[in-house]
Formats: sequence, C-alpha cells, structure tokens
Amino acid sequence: MSGTHTDALISRQVRRLETLLEDRGIVVGAALDEMLDAFLGGATPLNGARVAARAWTDPAYKERLLADGTAAVTELGYSAGGVQPQRLRVVENTDDTHNVVVCTLCSCYPVRLLGPSPSWYKSEAYRARVGREPRAVLEEFGLRLPAATRITVWDSSAETRYLVLPRRPEGTDALTEEELAARVTRNGLIGTAAL
Ligand code: FE
Repeated sequence: MSGTHTDALISRQVRRLETLLEDRGIVVGAALDEMLDAFLGGATPLNGARVAARAWTDPAYKERLLADGTAAVTELGYSAGGVQPQRLRVVENTDDTHNVVVCTLCSCYPVRLLGPSPSWYKSEAYRARVGREPRAVLEEFGLRLPAATRITVWDSSAETRYLVLPRRPEGTDALTEEELAARVTRNGLIGTAAL
C-alpha cells in the first residue's frame, strides 16, 4: 500500500470521526480547533504582545507582519492555527484608522496569540452590534475615538483570523522590546482598547 493511499485513508477516517462528533453535538470543528490549540500550551496574550512589540521596534519585521501575518508570527515561534489551516492577517491602527475584530458567525479568534477568548467576544450582543455601530460599542468599552477616526471592523472566519497592531504608546522611545510587550493588552490586540 502506498503512503499516499494510507494518508488518504487516515484522513478520511479522521474526517468521519469529526463528523460523527459534530453530529452528536459533542464538539464542533472550530471549538475542537481552539481546544487543541490551548491544550498544546503557551496560548497567552503575551504572545500577541511580543509580536506587537517586535513590530514597533523592527520596521522590516513590521512590514513582513502586515504583508503575511501567518509567516511573520511563525518567525517568532508561534503558529497561527491549530489542526485546521488558518491565515492570520494583522491590521495596523494609525492616526486616522482604528481596527476592531469580531466573529459574527461564532467565535473565531487567534487563541495561540491571545489566550482563551473573553466571554464578551463570544456574546450575541458584541457579535451583532460591533459591525453595525462600532463607535457606540467601543465607547462602552471606554474607548472614545476622535470623530475623524475611521473604524474598520474585521469579521473572522474559520480560515482567517485577525490581530490588531495597536499604535505604539507615546513616550515609550526608551523602552526595551520586553518592556513594550508588557504595555500591550489583549483588548488592545482585539481593538476594543487603545494603549
Ligand atoms: Fe467564528
């Protein structure tokens, strides 16, 4: 039996098992993916914070990060996904644009980079409202943006996850990369807070 044939057989069997588990409501694909990701360990917002701090201190890295998030986080030793292939897209906050992330369908989230997702991220209210009235929702998080700031809402999917690159806080020129990382919050990386 050829290797390719065996692989195909195994992957067919795994898919059948997955379908069975999903059909019985035991586990859904995305949830399984997140569980495995968290289980594999090291899933913490500090990972995303280190990515942001590196981007702030290394312009060439930042360029690679914005061009291909998946490859750039892998450079730092973080995988973007779990068992299913996922693409990571990093979106940068600037003077005139603020980015915020949601998954309107369920709760897709870059677990490896941000740790387990907060309950509000999975809530019906956040998912339904942030796309419609982002400014009002962000104000409820205590984030008041200038009227001229454009707000872009990114809707995640099983295939594509998003990470916000926050603006580097003022007066941090003298800080080391590690000190900068300590300033980055999970909500800052989702876009529901500024730093
Ligand atoms: Fe989702």
